[in-house]
Amino acid sequence: DVAPKREIKQTDPKPSLPPGMVLGPDGKPCKICTAFRSWKPTAQNDNAQADKSSGKKNTAAMMAAFASGKGFASTPDPDVRPEHCPPDVEQLGRATWTFLHTTAAYYPEKPTPNQRANMLTLLRSLPVLYPCSHCASHLDSNIRDHPPNVSGRVALSRWLCERHNDVNERLGKPKFDCSIEKTDERWKDGPSD
Ligand code: FAD
Repeated sequence: DVAPKREIKQTDPKPSLPPGMVLGPDGKPCKICTAFRSWKPTAQNDNAQADKSSGKKNTAAMMAAFASGKGFASTPDPDVRPEHCPPDVEQLGRATWTFLHTTAAYYPEKPTPNQRANMLTLLRSLPVLYPCSHCASHLDSNIRDHPPNVSGRVALSRWLCERHNDVNERLGKPKFDCSIEKTDERWKDGPSD
């Protein structure tokens, strides 16, 4: 089970929290829980707050910017990420969904007991290991409410699509049509033309 985590989000009544910033269980800015555009220091404050010797915006600099309330971009910048930048919550999410939906699309129609057991282990590992702690925490309760259906690829694809839709809904994004035709088109076959 995932241990309870202390999370503070943008929506919590914390006046000095920069827009979009998510704090981790340690109370520090959680980079992997936050979209890059929300934690990227503004160019104006970048020089003062960055550790120039190492070229890193370290946690202390992040916290200083956070505490000042001035060190972060107040409006979303275009997500122009330097090459080789570590993933943010969005890039990690897209990569994870790609892996999971594609794996579900190619999962057998009639999986063996061993394949079912391994798929269950994979899915149940996510809330324990997923690096974005607040994403993991939501997923943990979601999986408890909706246990994985690993009986075959159609059922699994739908189950996963619905879990993704739960996240979409929470983030204010449109829902995806979870019919097998649509999930296969997106993750296995491509459009017909
Ligand atoms: P994504 O949501 O990443 O989707 C990628 C592509 O999948 C879309 O372009 C679309 O073609 C397709 N798609 C969309 N919905 C479905 C669906 N229901 N079924 C099948 N295919 C679909 N981010 C947060 O900010 N907070 C969170 O709490 C959070 N929790 C997450 C939990 C998990 C387990 C994962 C894997 C990711 C989580 N994310 C969270 C990241 C978030 O879901 C997105 O991945 C991220 O915001 C990037 O979104 P996107 O619009 O690029 O498309």
